Amino acid sequence: MRQSKLFTKTRREVPADEVAKNAQLLIRAGFVHKEMAGVYSYLPLGLRVLTKIENIIREEMDAIGGQEIKMATLHPSENWKKTDGWDGVDVLFKIQSRTDKEYALGQSEEEIVTPIAQEYVTSYKDLPVALYQIGQKYRDELRAKSGIMRGREFGMKDMYSFHETQEDFESFYEIVKKSYFEAYKRCGLVAKVTEASGGSFSEKLSYEFMVLTDAGEDDILYCEECTHCANVEVSKVGEGEACPKCGKGKLKKARASEVGNVFDLGKKYPTSFDFTYKDKEGKEQTPIVGCYGFGTTRLMGVIVEKLADEKGLIWPENVAPFAVHLVALGKGDDDISKTADALYTDLVKAGVEVLYDDRDLRAGEKFAESDLIGIPTRIVVGKDAVATGEFEVVSRATGEVRNIPRKDILSCFLPTASNS
Ligand code: ATP
Ligand code: MG
Repeated sequence: MRQSKLFTKTRREVPADEVAKNAQLLIRAGFVHKEMAGVYSYLPLGLRVLTKIENIIREEMDAIGGQEIKMATLHPSENWKKTDGWDGVDVLFKIQSRTDKEYALGQSEEEIVTPIAQEYVTSYKDLPVALYQIGQKYRDELRAKSGIMRGREFGMKDMYSFHETQEDFESFYEIVKKSYFEAYKRCGLVAKVTEASGGSFSEKLSYEFMVLTDAGEDDILYCEECTHCANVEVSKVGEGEACPKCGKGKLKKARASEVGNVFDLGKKYPTSFDFTYKDKEGKEQTPIVGCYGFGTTRLMGVIVEKLADEKGLIWPENVAPFAVHLVALGKGDDDISKTADALYTDLVKAGVEVLYDDRDLRAGEKFAESDLIGIPTRIVVGKDAVATGEFEVVSRATGEVRNIPRKDILSCFLPTASNS
């Protein structure tokens, strides 16, 4: 895409009403637009990043047999009354119609997915099944100061699985866990999962996927030697003590952001909706349900918080809005324009995603903007490139500069197997 045609522009001023680094940078770079506290619109660059994150988790869920659906987000209040969520869920947005009818805005979708599953799951032969969607959630959060990491409207992948037995749920959870770790890795992050925790006896088990960052809102304890990780409130062992899992490492305290969550919902929701299936003996049984959340927009915020530097955003390759930022210098120099145009055409033809800064601006301005936007690789086309046929290729993350001859440029940017 030619930057002269890009709808958004970057800005220098930090938005006065944002304290979160992720929102400050994303707004300055033109990725998102703030509507009000906790509510953001996604602009072309931001949407490209979010769509890539969504596609990564979509591929991972498809690979383990999840079936994608798109559920309504405007919910009948009756469903929420059946599960006691209408009065019991504090973040639920309730809507009053002019016709006296009441609705809820989806904050999670158990109330919708359970009746859907009920319609099609009638026999043990229909189980297990896992349904997921990627879309908007609405929550009346009290504090919305973490930018896109805590929205009142936000993006989530939510999956719901239905099982005959607890063991079947547990083994599916292990499969989902692996695919979650893979998804976070592909997004350029390392996640940890907290050991099973259930707040009170009435509450079911939950597992939380955490990424270490000071911008997070959770406190965790983790072992530096093994995978042990626990929420500070539930951990039986304190900071500095020996790891209860491996015994070797010491527990370290850290701030983290919850980027995913798995709940063992047991039979609660099917029971509320009188949802049963016939087992092998023809007896009515209630399925066991698991739910798997994955915060797509929060994850995007965490990526910003973890990777950005003082110059701006830094995107990992797999979720970057473009792979290459082609920057032409020299303000209307014909030779430079021709050389840059030709390279742009070749890269696009080869399937490389390129943002081409073809605008008539000073080099310093272009570089500052390029740093702010954070595309992984910058190719500079200036007088030198025209004269020598070698192009300066700069890594945004490391600052490493390579001079690459024209004939070798394309092969540097062809998508590799690990990127696809
Ligand atoms: P938190 O404790 O952070 O409020 P939660 O336990 O309410 O999270 P879930 O209901 O399990 O979260 O939602 C699944 C995932 O959705 C979370 O792990 C998180 O990544 C994301 N998420 C939850 N609330 C928000 C929000 N307000 N804004 C952005 N993402 C969110
Ligand atoms: Mg919450």
